[in-house]
Amino acid sequence: MSLLSVQDLHVNYGRVEALHGVSLEVGAGQIVSVIGPNGAGKTTLLSALAGVLPSRGTALYQGEALSSLSVEERVRRGLVMVPEKRELFGSMTVADNLLLGSYSRRSRSQVGTDLENIYARFPRLLERRKQLAGTLSGGEQQMLAIGRALMTAPKLLMLDEPSLGLAPIIVREIFKIVESLRASGVTVLLVEQNARAALACSDHGYVLETGDVKLSGPAQQLADDPAVTSAYLGSQES
Ligand code: ATP
Repeated sequence: MSLLSVQDLHVNYGRVEALHGVSLEVGAGQIVSVIGPNGAGKTTLLSALAGVLPSRGTALYQGEALSSLSVEERVRRGLVMVPEKRELFGSMTVADNLLLGSYSRRSRSQVGTDLENIYARFPRLLERRKQLAGTLSGGEQQMLAIGRALMTAPKLLMLDEPSLGLAPIIVREIFKIVESLRASGVTVLLVEQNARAALACSDHGYVLETGDVKLSGPAQQLADDPAVTSAYLGSQES
């Protein structure tokens, strides 16, 4: 059963349409990746699903129409986005950034345990818990952004280019983290330009180009598809 089912989603920036009727399914417990070049509409898609951009079409999350839910209500139900620019509070500590992630929780009783779990998952954040977020390395900042999102107790985590701007060794670490999220029961919708690494860890994939889904299928099948290989898997670092 799909956790998220999107049918014919359109998004405009003024008169310009950026998504021309995108449909996709995200099954519970899966990693689903959306790959595609710059300007394909990947960030636009996630922003519309998070509710920060208006859209037309149908998007059902846990069987409920997203259009009836505010941004905050989506977060409360576990639909959470980690934005490409991470949007951390640079002059606050790592620990305070993590705690901010829990503000939307109705029940506060779990917060302490969740924080411990996040430090267990990201020992580097534990070591640096008193450090200002703005002084972390790029990879550590990405871990903090994911950790902060985990503090909301997400069911479906939408990651916008988590590997962007990171060194290959850190990229591998980030993708291992993404796989560990699935193992701990979090469903992931992953947007990436690093198609090879994204497909390698995904169950299913979609290729988005200029606002349209051009191809979709099981991730391994896409990774072996000559059209995908020549367009996206040429010289990518994994
Ligand atoms: P990237 O990997 O570069 O972030 P993307 O696939 O995420 O690319 P989007 O950022 O979603 O692509 O952009 C899709 C299209 O919408 C592009 O043509 C872009 O120029 C346009 N666009 C994005 N944001 C805005 C905006 N705020 N106003 C007008 N047009 C926008």
